[in-house]
Amino acid sequence: MSFDTLLKGGVLPDGTTADIAIRDGRIAAISPAIEAEAGEIIDITGDLVSPPFVDPHFHMDATLSYGLPRINASGTLLEGIGLWGELKPLLTHEAVKERALAYCDWAASMGLLAIRTHVDVCDDRLLAVEALLEVKKEIAHYIDLQLVAFPQDGLYRSSTARENTIRALDLGVDVVGGIPHFERTMADGRASVTELCEIAAERGLMVDMHCDETDDPLSRHVEQLAYETQRLGLQGRVAGSHLTSMHSMDNYYVSKLLPLIAEAEVAAIPNPLINITLQGRHDTYPKRRGMTRVPEMLKHGIRVGFGQDCVLDPWYSLGTADMLDVAFMGLHVAQMTSPEDMRRCYEMVTTESAAIMGLEDYGLEAGKRADLVVLDAGNPIEAIRLRATRLMVMARGKVIARRERSPMRLDIPGRKADIDRRFRIADPS
Ligand SMILES: [Zn+2]
Repeated sequence: MSFDTLLKGGVLPDGTTADIAIRDGRIAAISPAIEAEAGEIIDITGDLVSPPFVDPHFHMDATLSYGLPRINASGTLLEGIGLWGELKPLLTHEAVKERALAYCDWAASMGLLAIRTHVDVCDDRLLAVEALLEVKKEIAHYIDLQLVAFPQDGLYRSSTARENTIRALDLGVDVVGGIPHFERTMADGRASVTELCEIAAERGLMVDMHCDETDDPLSRHVEQLAYETQRLGLQGRVAGSHLTSMHSMDNYYVSKLLPLIAEAEVAAIPNPLINITLQGRHDTYPKRRGMTRVPEMLKHGIRVGFGQDCVLDPWYSLGTADMLDVAFMGLHVAQMTSPEDMRRCYEMVTTESAAIMGLEDYGLEAGKRADLVVLDAGNPIEAIRLRATRLMVMARGKVIARRERSPMRLDIPGRKADIDRRFRIADPS
């Protein structure tokens, strides 16, 4: 039997070694040893081979706009929203598209092959929506891009947001978004959750709402989101993004809330890089971390995926499309340092986020699409520790990025060595 490509000796995220045979853009076989002819045989012995990285929360209409028209001086979410409001009327279709495509080049090179991006619909031109729908088509052969209709300025607070949300969905945007904590009142926020979930139920769409992205311990919108999910039968199709207020909530209330979220099968998408920088800005010391309660949610069986949220935009001045940065920060902020927890953090930027996005063709299994990334690391924990080099990225069975391993030569008198930062734990036996 002959294959297009055969990858030999890779280490899967679960620690087992496998050969992966690829034909017609799909994984034809995956097992410990495949001896067969192939158009190309690639030796990846000892390197981690993983399904691609997945970013379940991003803003591709704003990315790479850092400094336009100015920089966020206070570092807060609210100034970021204000700044974005200044930039929005200046956006052009071409510029949005060009920045998005440039970002997708970065993403592809980092093995990030599935992205859920919110797109602001509070611009009556719906220019960003149209630009990103075009981008989605143009990159479909290497990145799965999912769009969320996001009424950034508030479904009710902005006079045309409601109408524009519907227009965006009519144009083919995939997911219903919202921002209840930015509406004028708690009651409006609550009503927006209800209405947006009803729109999603009517159209058979998924929901992903920016929810309780504040330090306010009394913000209660995720409770409403879980309730509407239950009431409308949307279980498994709804995600609450950020949920930062949960960090500050009363412990008794959280003990009631988490089972409700679990029961409604609402997933959570914290964004560690952004939550740790935007939240807690009104605190003196001690300063709150501003990330939601990840280990506690996992204990309740709530699905959690880490998102990146921002790269070089009005809210965040750094970022490289590296989901290992996201996992690294999430691991630290959530204090998820046991081996099991660290592996979980890796899953939260791969398989768990893929499940949240409903990517059915995702995963290293026979029959699935041949999308994968090979890393200069021996296992997922080492990949996070090193933010490991992507040696190869494959999309739909084609190698789309390759990079040489690049050891550094140390040249100190009496101490010459090639630096290899990979590490094996000594076997105690
Ligand atoms: Zn966001």
